[in-house]
Amino acid sequence: MQLQEFKMSIAGEWTGAISGKVFDSLDPASGKVWAQFPDADENDVDKAVIAANTVFKSPQWRNITATQRGKLLRKLGDLISQNVDILAQLESRDNGKLIRETRAQVNYLPEFFYYTAGLADKVEGETLPLDKTDMMAYTIREPLGVVAAIIPWNSPLYLTAIKLAPALAAGNTIILKPSEHASATLIELVKLAELAGIPKGVVSVVTGFGPSAGAALTSHPLIRKVAFTGGAQTAKHVIRSSAENFSKLSLELGGKSPQIVFEDADLDSALNGIVAGIFAASGQSCVAGSRILVHNSIYDDFVNALVAKASKIKIGDPALSDSEMGPMATEQQLAVVESFVKQAKEQGAKLRLGGKRADIGQGWYYEPTIFECSSNDDYLMQEEVFGPVAAVIPFDTEEQALVMANDSNYGLAAGVWTRDIARAHRVARDVHSGIIWVNTYRVVSAMASIGGYKHSGYGRESGIDSVLAYTERKTVWINLSSEPMSDPFVMR
Ligand code: NAP
Repeated sequence: MQLQEFKMSIAGEWTGAISGKVFDSLDPASGKVWAQFPDADENDVDKAVIAANTVFKSPQWRNITATQRGKLLRKLGDLISQNVDILAQLESRDNGKLIRETRAQVNYLPEFFYYTAGLADKVEGETLPLDKTDMMAYTIREPLGVVAAIIPWNSPLYLTAIKLAPALAAGNTIILKPSEHASATLIELVKLAELAGIPKGVVSVVTGFGPSAGAALTSHPLIRKVAFTGGAQTAKHVIRSSAENFSKLSLELGGKSPQIVFEDADLDSALNGIVAGIFAASGQSCVAGSRILVHNSIYDDFVNALVAKASKIKIGDPALSDSEMGPMATEQQLAVVESFVKQAKEQGAKLRLGGKRADIGQGWYYEPTIFECSSNDDYLMQEEVFGPVAAVIPFDTEEQALVMANDSNYGLAAGVWTRDIARAHRVARDVHSGIIWVNTYRVVSAMASIGGYKHSGYGRESGIDSVLAYTERKTVWINLSSEPMSDPFVMR
């Protein structure tokens, strides 16, 4: 296999790092080096931000109307749809996600650009119904400036699309910082953005490590907004940087999402939804339905059926279309999963399936794993694993299920399985999470917002108001009176 060498895009130029340093990226399916990327440091980041700020203020970008920006986004969506296979294969290679999943994700990706393109010229100001005679006021929505998008490794293209499209629709410039574990597709995306006619330097991509390139970017004083997706510990660094610079911030963080299965559910459907929720993407999904709450009256049968179904999951090379579960994206994440499993066993959780590496070659594969827990306080019920590890627990009443579902630091997503329509709405109302799926799981749409409660972060991405999150509202006051201003010491 030939080593692929990538460059990053700074100030509209494809370049290596100023230091000349590069880093290796490993293929999760083999554990071998497959690509090299520039290892950016604060000097590269500084250059990128200053250039993006210059482009932001330049007529070359400022004079492009909102309608034209919408057309550019639509064109980018078209180019993505023409390059689905290339992008899907690259993402699969880079982060080990199944080709069937990356293909489906990339196939849908243009919709985020088309939908947001339509919003670009519908960002309106208001005239205010004032409580003052002889005064008029109206508002204008303005772009913020340079946006930093910090992207994790699990779904780089999707998590970038929901930041990039609204940021550009609003007229900002943007710098993408992919995870060092999955940089390749964001580089290809920036190439497509250039091909679409988006002026050079409007979208940049800086590759490198989180504590160096990422920290330099999020703490740069010219960054006006950080759109961050990742873990809670990193988010705390980013919050501190935003506090120093008063930059805006959106945080899409982790979850420990409950899936509640009631006794009246369509159990076949629920089983599929539970398997999809926790074992798709090998559990490396922020919305992974990792806590499975099952009504006591169906508990034994349901858990047995779940174990049987999960034991048939075909683990294999993510590039093969019949594989159902691929490797962990990084060796480090594999170690994290192993350490969670060890602690769960030590705490007395009952292992029903898996609990070890899958023995299929050199990659970082882990078996689908199911534990039965006895208390919602168990480590495995409270902490995000970000791997294929399900924690199952019984409940007796709806109230009890809701107490358990909400007894978590997280609040990103939830699922409820029931045929009782009143109960479905009650649970949807009472669960504290940014998303709740009823009799389905892991559905996304360009029209639907995502984001969390509590430690799952703040701010929302995707959906009708996504572009507004990349604007500043300005109020303009007009004195309609022809009388001179009188008392200078009175607030009018
Ligand atoms: P992570 O370690 O927090 O990394 C996320 C991003 O932050 C990466 O690009 C990382 O770069 C960068 N980074 C690391 N240290 C930084 C610093 N000091 N300053 C600025 N940036 C820094 O998270 P991860 O392990 O990649 O991703 C898993 C987490 O993301 C999980 O908690 C998951 O639930 C969450 N997630 C949430 C969503 C959502 O939509 N809510 C979606 C996907 C994932 P490097 O990788 O190069 O270090």
